[in-house]
Amino acid sequence: MLCFSGVSVDYGTGTDAVHAIADTSLCVERGMVLALIGASGCGKSTMLRVAAGLVRPTAGTLYADGVPVNPHILRIGFLPQNYGLLAWKTVRENILLGAQIKGMWNPGRMNAFDEIVSDLGLSGLLTRYPSELSGGQQQRVGLARAFLLAPDLLLMDEPFSALDAITRESMQEIFLSLWKKHAVTTMLVTHYVEEALMLAGRIAVMTGTPGRIAEIIDNPLAGDLTHRCMPEFFAMGQELRAKIAGGIV
Ligand code: ADP
Repeated sequence: MLCFSGVSVDYGTGTDAVHAIADTSLCVERGMVLALIGASGCGKSTMLRVAAGLVRPTAGTLYADGVPVNPHILRIGFLPQNYGLLAWKTVRENILLGAQIKGMWNPGRMNAFDEIVSDLGLSGLLTRYPSELSGGQQQRVGLARAFLLAPDLLLMDEPFSALDAITRESMQEIFLSLWKKHAVTTMLVTHYVEEALMLAGRIAVMTGTPGRIAEIIDNPLAGDLTHRCMPEFFAMGQELRAKIAGGIV
């Protein structure tokens, strides 16, 4: 669905330039979750910013379904690390915001709104403001906004890392059930090995400065949290950690 072809990104120019990613090629298949994992600073968020159209590649091209991406046409749901909620808007207004900006909102979609709000357990919180919510609740509002947009592509940057371990697990579960229902093509940045293994059918390991894809791993254990207790899960986790720590593999 989405392919990076020979993409490089430099921030700044001349001697001050930071080479964030170099000559990177990667495809995200439709309906899949792909996780980007790697050490801090290896260019994971930059890859997401390129996919979101927020950063223009210095070289290379981003394709959607075989044609260069037009970020104005592709419907992208972006869930940043801080959830991207507007403090002065209520939960209801924050959820509607993305669909409204993209011209995707009309009263005929009220059923979709009600269903997503109910799935995310937000029905009783619609008139609150973000400052009146816990981190997990804010996260659920961000997810509701992203899913209401019915995005072609969902981008999530360390979505659960600010949450405590218990809330993170329940959010991973909620995300998986929503993702199964809506089958949204998703690119997820995480530095948690277990999170990548639980959520992502493909895991791209990034290494180096500038960042590159060192390896892409198919993960048959994704999509079912009960797999966490399987010996294969631990084995894959160890393998993944070694690849991240070992750099070029
Ligand atoms: P990661 O998400 O893997 O931690 P990033 O994509 O955020 O990595 O950053 C990759 C590299 O680009 C890092 O060296 C970082 O310092 C640099 N970088 C990121 N954003 C900017 C920016 N806006 N200006 C200059 N350098 C940046």
